[in-house]
This record gives sequence, structure tokens and C-alpha cells, in this order.
Amino acid sequence: MENFEAIGLKPEIIEAITALGFEKPTPVQQQAIPFLLSSKQDLIALAQTGTGKTAAFGLPVINQIDPKNKNVQALVLCPTRELCLQITKELGNYLAKSKDIQVTAVYGGESIDKQIRQLRRGVHIVAGTPGRTLDLIKREKLKIDNIQWLVLDEADEMLSMGFKDDLDAILSQTPDEKQTLLFSATMPYEMKSIVRDYMTDPMELSAGKKNVSADTVEHTYCVVAGRHKYEALKRIANIHPNIYGIIFCRTRKETKAIADQLGQDHYNADAIHGDLSQAQRELVMHRFRNRHLQLLVATDVAARGIDVNDLSHVINYQLPDTVATYIHRTGRTGRAGKEGMAISLVSGRERDFMRSVERKIGKKVIKKMIPTGQEICERQLFTLIDKVKNVEVNEEQISPYLEATMEKLSVFEREELIKRFVSVEFNRFLKDYEDAPDLNDFSRERRKPSFDHGGRRGGRGSGRNGYTRYKRFFINVGTSDHLTAPRLLGLINEQFHGEKVPVGKIELLRNFSFFEIDQQFATKLPSRFNGVTFEGKGVEVEEAQAKRRNHDRSYDRGGRGGGGRGGYGNNNSSGRKRIKRKRKYN
Ligand code: AMP
Repeated sequence: MENFEAIGLKPEIIEAITALGFEKPTPVQQQAIPFLLSSKQDLIALAQTGTGKTAAFGLPVINQIDPKNKNVQALVLCPTRELCLQITKELGNYLAKSKDIQVTAVYGGESIDKQIRQLRRGVHIVAGTPGRTLDLIKREKLKIDNIQWLVLDEADEMLSMGFKDDLDAILSQTPDEKQTLLFSATMPYEMKSIVRDYMTDPMELSAGKKNVSADTVEHTYCVVAGRHKYEALKRIANIHPNIYGIIFCRTRKETKAIADQLGQDHYNADAIHGDLSQAQRELVMHRFRNRHLQLLVATDVAARGIDVNDLSHVINYQLPDTVATYIHRTGRTGRAGKEGMAISLVSGRERDFMRSVERKIGKKVIKKMIPTGQEICERQLFTLIDKVKNVEVNEEQISPYLEATMEKLSVFEREELIKRFVSVEFNRFLKDYEDAPDLNDFSRERRKPSFDHGGRRGGRGSGRNGYTRYKRFFINVGTSDHLTAPRLLGLINEQFHGEKVPVGKIELLRNFSFFEIDQQFATKLPSRFNGVTFEGKGVEVEEAQAKRRNHDRSYDRGGRGGGGRGGYGNNNSSGRKRIKRKRKYN
């Protein structure tokens, strides 16, 4: 089956979905629609949000609704009001050319009287959350004894949110003669009792493997200490200037705090969580859908059913409890064949969780480094330049101001002018990231022997990961001054007043030493050592040449500056001896 016409849907439905841009059925639709049009057998479909599952059950159900029968004919139960509204809206779209079929949503947090009035007018399809649906049944405002279709959408979520008792109560009121359709992203163990008690010989279909994640999603994580998480989040947002994503937190309080902080830091961000009124939630969602917000900070519960297809990123500020929830969260990006990225900010201990994710999705979860300030500045600069290149110039509107503008700017050469325009926007980032530390947490990584300082070290020069780059420094104290690697680390850290300065390779020699530090700290380093003494000796620090081999050669040639410093500092050994000692430490 290649297209909707071939399935046998009514022309008015085809017309409506064609207007929505549906060309071909999605895999779950290809399997479910013909089955539901031709069979009364129950159905279990493993399908996540974003796979087209609403149409998979919605189109065949709508196709069979009898508009003249004023009873509720189909009941769709789902876990949250967002999903409930989304389903109602989606079904309403399919019904655009079938005005005699009515659909309504019933959910908590909104006036029950309004919903009762709606039901009184006569509806054919009701989408509801379990609590409100049960309430309306008990009040005898919603009659479900004539339904022909019962849909349990996101059934796993309904169970994990504690709706089992409500579901039992609702399902026990439904007629025996009906078709039950269960849609779920996962099949947790507890689902068995629902299937056993309320379904008869269901046909099972899967729109892919169980618990799969879209191929177009790149799963990544960064290891960061809790205290650096927020800063890391900002860097991720900054390195992706066009980010459009959801940031998941675990609690309402944290969701609110992160969104508030992002707002104060001038990001287009807002929060969606359980403390918001329905009107507030709708307003936030409206702004997010229209892209007035780039970042939506959300709890799992509040984010259920968020129907936004083009998310570029899903960020796990806090990991969820289960891998299934991880899959749910990240399934919101990479939809409809578009590329997406999932980024989890994890502590060293939480890396095991990422391994479980890897096993479940059968795909590598890539460790990424939190970008450095320099990388962010670079990315922001190029984004700015691209904007300048692509900006539409409205000649007509700008022309009245051009002459005066040109005159004012005529004092600058072309190059100077470019520098100034770029600096107007770019200075903020330069300032923000001046001396920005490395936020990656290496504390739980395996330490390497010798003078490689565990996580704080890395490859030389180019950096261990393509992100952190080190600069090599000379210091005029060595082992004869009782310098040890820990003492050198302490000496460096003291000059940076508690900032965590990533230190790379350390080489201790008799009368002087070398060390590498993150190049972001490099410019400040020599001046920070002004007036510093070690074991009574005035400390001098200066940048060394990048490659050791060059240094070695420079000793042979009498060192930098023509040997005025005796190569490096006040040692008495000959250049050749020094080379030998250096090699010993290599
Ligand atoms: P759902 O999985 O039901 O949440 O659907 C996700 C999104 O895909 C919704 O915005 C639908 O309108 C859209 N959609 C569903 N089926 C199709 C289709 N066959 N072609 C294009 N878009 C679709």
C-alpha cells in the first residue's frame, strides 16, 4: 500500500489529510489502517509519539463513525491534558471536511461545566484523561456504554503515572462488544494485566523495533560536575545559536529555576510544569510553537504530548529514572526524517545509565566535550558573519538614513569598519568567556601513570579531544627547589583563586620545569606569577615553544634568546646534560 487512496478511506478524509500534507502513510499507519478498516479484532501497536499513531487509529475510526448516531462511539484515553488536546486537534483536522462528526476533549484543570455542556450537545468521539473521564462517567454526563472503539494511547505512560485504578474503573463500564486499541511506546510488565483483563486475542503490530530511537537522532552526553551544569547548559546553547529544543528537568522547582535563570541571562526560554494554569501552559506552548521561545524547560509530565516536530535538540539537564523515559524524551527530536541531537549532562556516576541507553537503542551514545569559550566565540562569530551575509537589505526603507550613516562611518577604513560591526555583537561573548574554565569533569576517569594528571591532562598541543587546547609554559623552579607535581599544581591553582585550571603534562627537571595549561588561561598566566616566590626564590613563568623537539634543539643552540637565560633560568648544567635529563622524563 503506497498511498491513502488505496486504503479505502472516504474522499472527505483523504481531502482533509491531503490538505495537511500527508502524502504517504507512515509505517504504523500502513499496518494499522487497513487492519482497523477490515477487522473488529483488538489491536496492540508499539508506536511512539511522532510516528503518526494518532492518524493510525484516528483515520480508520473516523471513517467508520456514524454521524447520525448521537452516542459517544469512540473513547480515546491518554495520560495528559496536552496529549488530550493534541489528539482532539489532530482528529479535528482529519474531520475538516466531515462537519457532522464531533470530537471533544475532557481533561482536568479546566471547567467541568464547559465540558459537560460540550458533551450535552452530542459528540461522537471523546478524548480524555483518565481522572476527568471517570469523574464525568460517575456524574453520568459521559455515557460510554455504547462505544465501539476504546483507544488507550500512551498506555505505558498512563500506567507509570498511576492511572491503573482509574483505567480499571473506566474499562469496567465499557461494553463487551467493542474494539480495544492499545498504543504504547513500550510494553512494561504491568501492561500484561490490562491486556489480559480487557483485550481479546489482540493482533500485535510494531512500527519498528521495540524501544527504538529514530535513526536521525544523535545521542550524546557530556560529563560535568553538578555545580557546573548550568554553565555547561549555556555553553551548549551558545555553541548552537539556532537551537530549538526542550530541556528536561526532574522537578517543577528546578524547571522553574533553570528557565528563570536562562531568562535573566537573555536566552529565549520559558518553563512548562505542573504549577502553571491551563491558560499559562497554552501561552507558553504557543510561544514555543511559534519559535518565540528557543528553549522550553520541562518536566516529563508537563512535556507529555508536546506536539512540536522540528526540535533540533533534546537536553537532559537531569537524567530520567528509566531508559524508557529517556527514549520518550529524546523521541521528540529527529522526527519526520529530520536530524536531531540528544545531549545528556551526566555526572561521572551516571555514565552507566548512558550505557543502558546504548544497549536498549542499539546505537552508540557518543561522549562529547563541553565546548570551550574559544569554540563558542568562534561559532558565534561565524554565525554572525553568516547573518550579515544573508541579511535582506530593504533598500527603500534604509535609503533615507544611508547618506548620514555613510558620512559618519567614512572615517573608518573597510577593515576597521568590519571589526567594529562584528565587535558590537561579539564583544559580549568575548567578555563572557574570557578566562572561561574547562567544565568537563574528568575526576572519575582512569588516571594515567607518571606525570599525567588524570582527568586534568590531555594530549599535547592539539588537546586531548579537539576541544581543550594546551599551551606549554616554562617555570624557573625544579626538583632542586623541592618542586613536586602536586606542589606545582598547587602553585598554579593559588594564582587563579579557586578557578579550576586544566593542567596538562608536567615535566619536572632539576632546575626548571615545564607544564601545560588550558590555553584559555595562558595569556593571564605570566602576570599572575608576578611577585610570586617558591621556597624563597622569585618565580618566573613564560610561554615555552610549542614542540619539545624545538626546545631540545634550542638547548643545543644555547636556548631561546641566545642563551642569555642559560637556556631556561639560572641553572648551571650544560645544555647537553639538560637534554639527557629531559629524555629521562619523557
Ligand atoms: P503522532 O505520532 O500522531 O503524534 O503524529 C506526529 C505528527 O506527524 C503529527 O503532526 C501528524 O500530523 C503528522 N503525521 C501523521 N501522519 C502523517 C503522514 N502520513 N504524513 C505526514 N505527516 C503525518
